[in-house]
Amino acid sequence: MTLEGKIALVTGGGRGIGRAIALQLASEGASIILNSLTSQNAETASQEIRSIGGQAQAFPADVSSPTAVKTLFEAIRKEYQRIDILVNNAGIIRDHILLKMQDNDWNEILQNNLNSIFLCSRAALRMMLPQRWGRIISISSIAAFAGNTGQTSYAAAKAGIIGFTRSLARETARNNITVNAIAPGLIETDMTNSFSAKQKSELVSRIPLGYAGTPQDVAEAVSFLSSDRARYITGQTLTIDGGLTIC
Ligand code: NAP
Repeated sequence: MTLEGKIALVTGGGRGIGRAIALQLASEGASIILNSLTSQNAETASQEIRSIGGQAQAFPADVSSPTAVKTLFEAIRKEYQRIDILVNNAGIIRDHILLKMQDNDWNEILQNNLNSIFLCSRAALRMMLPQRWGRIISISSIAAFAGNTGQTSYAAAKAGIIGFTRSLARETARNNITVNAIAPGLIETDMTNSFSAKQKSELVSRIPLGYAGTPQDVAEAVSFLSSDRARYITGQTLTIDGGLTIC
C-alpha cells in the first residue's frame, strides 16, 4: 500500500483511462476524489472502488470551466483540506481537418484538454505547496509529437501539456512537487471505439508490439509516477504506445 494516506484527484475518472487510474491508485491505498463530467459516471466508478474495499468519493464537475473548477476545489478543501496527487486525465476529441474547423470546435478542444490542466494544477498547487510534497501527472498524447490528420486542435492542446509540464516542473521542484506527463498511443476506450475498424487495424499494423494498449497500461505508469519510487523524475513525458512512435 505505497499510497496509503494520500489524497488523489483523478479528473475524467468515470470511464476509460481515468477509471483505471482511479482503481489502481485506490488499490495502493490512496483516497480517490473521483471527478467526471457526469454525476452518473463519477458515482458508478466511485462505488466500484468502494465495492473492492477502496476509498472514493464522486465529485462531478466540468473541469474546462473556471467557475466549476473553483467550486470543485472549494469542496475538496472543505472535505479533505489537502491534495497530494493530481491526475489531469479528462479530455475529449472532436476531429476536423483545419479548413472545416469552426472557432468553437478549436476553443472547445483547447478548453477541455489544456485549460482544464492549467485550472486544476493551479488550484491543486495552492494546497500542495504548504505540504512540500505533491505529484501532478497529466495525460498528453502521441498526437503531440507525431501529429494526426484532423487533430490540429487536439495535437496543439496535447503538445501544450508537454511544455506546461516542463515549465511547471521547474517552478515546483524546490518544493518537492514533481510534474510529469504521459503520452499514450492507441488505448482501447470509448474514445477510440469511435474509430472505424479500418482505421484501427491500420493503426495496429504500425504498432511494433502488434496490439492496442489497455487503460491499465497507462494506470501502471501513473501509479509509479505517483509514488516515492519516482521521486527523482520530473518534467518528463513518458510515451506508452507499444513502440508506435519509436524513431
Ligand atoms: P474517454 O473514454 O472518452 O473518457 C473520458 C473521460 O473524461 C470521461 O470519464 C468523461 O466524463 C471525462 N471528461 C470529459 N470531459 C470532461 C470535463 N470537461 N470535465 C470532467 N470530465 C470530463 O477517454 P479516454 O480514452 O479514457 O481518454 C482519457 C485521456 O487520455 C484523455 O485526455 C485523452 O485525450 C487521452 N488519450 C487517450 C488515448 C486513447 O487512445 N484512448 C490516447 C492518447 C491520449 P463522463 O464519463 O462523465 O462523460
